[in-house]
Amino acid sequence: MPGIIVNPRARIFHGHCWVYSSEIKKTFGNPQPGDVITMKDFKDRPLGSAIYNPNSQIVARRFARRKQDLDADFFRRRISQAAQRREGKGAPGVDPKLCRLVWSESDGIPGLVVDRYGDYLVVQALTLAMDSRLGLIAEVLVELFSPTGIVARNDASVRVAEGLELEVKMLAGGEPEPFRVTSGGLSFLVDLLGGQKTGLYLDQLGNYGAVGEMADGKRVLDCFTNQGGFALACARAGASSVTGVDSSPPALANAAENAEAIGVADKIEWVEANVFDFLKEAESNEERYDLIVLDPPSFTRSKRAVRDAMRGYKEIHLRALKMLEPGGRLATYTCSHHVGRPEFLEMLCGASVDAKRSIRQVEVHTQRADHPIVITVPETEYLKGIVVEVIPSW
Ligand code: SAH
Repeated sequence: MPGIIVNPRARIFHGHCWVYSSEIKKTFGNPQPGDVITMKDFKDRPLGSAIYNPNSQIVARRFARRKQDLDADFFRRRISQAAQRREGKGAPGVDPKLCRLVWSESDGIPGLVVDRYGDYLVVQALTLAMDSRLGLIAEVLVELFSPTGIVARNDASVRVAEGLELEVKMLAGGEPEPFRVTSGGLSFLVDLLGGQKTGLYLDQLGNYGAVGEMADGKRVLDCFTNQGGFALACARAGASSVTGVDSSPPALANAAENAEAIGVADKIEWVEANVFDFLKEAESNEERYDLIVLDPPSFTRSKRAVRDAMRGYKEIHLRALKMLEPGGRLATYTCSHHVGRPEFLEMLCGASVDAKRSIRQVEVHTQRADHPIVITVPETEYLKGIVVEVIPSW
């Protein structure tokens, strides 16, 4: 089998599963883009099987430590294992009918994402090898789950790095109309063909309830609210007032319908605004809140953009901290692959210093358990969250 010889000290020797072009010593046997290859170390010892794409910076991604083909049997086995892990004790708090069933490297299928929304499945193929086997994958999914339909949401921009086109299409069944799903007493309208991500921010579903538990009697501000997850949870948990801010009119219209569906519409004010402008104005009007949520999109598409992004992050944290009452809480998240927890906390510390506020950690949040983290592959932990409180009278 064709393959590559990996340089000593490459990250694969530290438990990672990726090999970058700079980590390859030699290519042998003329592998083609999208092929399964064998990997060896510089002493010709086998390192396992990987998918190959020389047109991507990440040239190889290991999916097995032994010799292994990407055949129907492989997909059946790995996808079943992943689905089982979303049930019962494997993933506490996760509804196996509304979850990420397969998550790429974390489930040993690099570049394949499968989300389940009741009777529908949404698939993303983010690597060339998965994209070229999508027909086979769809067959296996039909066999295992008998879904009403399978949507391919292949419009994620990371596909460009693999040389793939962006497209949305059905792999099986007819096109679904937008429909409602419920989670933790909240109701969401999901548009599998047109919504952001694959329809819903599944990774945050567990954190809505956790923040909601802090909201009873509080004045809440939910920035970057999207479909309203945090705002809805807080309103439902007895917040005295809730404001949800987003720059996207369709997202806000959706959020308002979601509030209607659970009978909390009168408690929430939806504001269409740029959060940066909104916070600036609120601060100058001396607005005060007891609980503020910041859940911005990833401002950092690349490592280079991180410095600018951190400046933006710091600005909104500084303003939020200034507007919190003593004892008030800030729940903040970053979903950027390029911002690690240490840098995120450093930014938050800097903002608290500038705001002249002493803060204390209340809870550490992360992505829900249906997005498992492989600690030797740090990129699999992408949602970093923390809840802090402003210490009164310090
Ligand atoms: N908290 C949401 C997810 C937020 S996603 C949830 O759990 O569902 C990020 C959201 O920020 C998107 O809805 C996007 O429309 C919005 N957004 C992006 N930039 C913005 C800006 N500068 N001001 C306001 N909203 C913004």
